[in-house]
Amino acid sequence: MSSLAISLLDLEADSQVCLEADDYQKRPGKWCAGCGDFGALNAVKRLLAKEQLQPEKTVFVSGIGCSSRFPHYVNTYGFHGIHGRALPVATGIKLARPELDVFVTMGDGDCTSIGAGHWIHATRYNADMVVLMLDNNIYGLTKNQTSPTTPQGYASMTSPKGAVLPALDPLQATLGVSNASFVAQTADWVPAHLYATMQAAYDHPGFSFVRILQRCPKFTADVFQKNIENPDLTELLVHENGVDVPSLKQLFKARRVHDPKNIDDARALAHRTDKLRLGMFFRDDSLPVYEEIRAVPKISAEEKVARLNKEFERYAV
Ligand code: SF4
Repeated sequence: MSSLAISLLDLEADSQVCLEADDYQKRPGKWCAGCGDFGALNAVKRLLAKEQLQPEKTVFVSGIGCSSRFPHYVNTYGFHGIHGRALPVATGIKLARPELDVFVTMGDGDCTSIGAGHWIHATRYNADMVVLMLDNNIYGLTKNQTSPTTPQGYASMTSPKGAVLPALDPLQATLGVSNASFVAQTADWVPAHLYATMQAAYDHPGFSFVRILQRCPKFTADVFQKNIENPDLTELLVHENGVDVPSLKQLFKARRVHDPKNIDDARALAHRTDKLRLGMFFRDDSLPVYEEIRAVPKISAEEKVARLNKEFERYAV
């Protein structure tokens, strides 16, 4: 049976108390030394503190994988679900409790393989949530198996002679879905950009898909190494409506002004392979969100119990 756990809230939130970033850390993260998940967790904690999100009104949902441990480490409500199913769980939460802030963490295998069907439809539903897809190009938790984003030719335990297919590009795929409303890419080794992208994703009213390029020193130590060592191989997409971090100007000389309202340019940029691109590819705040289109009628607790009992009665002998 797949693991299923509900993180219980340790912190009784008091709206008068100013919460610091470390107040959102439930317990230390247990990842390998140098894992990019640590950087993502730090950025998440900073965002929660900046927005003063109340732990009892915030939910982290995950599937299975190294990055799916997030609900155990973030001091909010959490749901560590089954493989590939984080998005339908999160969508259900948002439909039932639209006032909650919902975050989803998934790995590349969880999202683009087992959960691929949910990923496509959740993008189309456009429920308001922040989706952090931590892409280390491998299944790490199950010890080095080729995932859909593993580069062609890259050897793993399941493909010792190298991955036979070209890698699936999550940006291209998400930008191809009707009703996609927010698609961005960032990297764990550029913390200022990572944080600014998470902030933009949180501010966006709709399904914010953020692909985080994530270092996995255990199994794919070299896949991002050239870009880490040489910032000239990375181009930042900048625009007043996108993600622009002035302090990164010195480090990243390659900068491209890209208006994230332009879906055709976004798709064209996602297909180019000449450089690694970080930034906001597409954003449209005007699209309707699913929880408003499919609002669940409010019913009292008594009525819920009565309906449940009625259902149970059907199976009573
Ligand atoms: Fe991180 Fe890779 Fe270790 Fe998983 S296997 S914790 S992704 S470094």
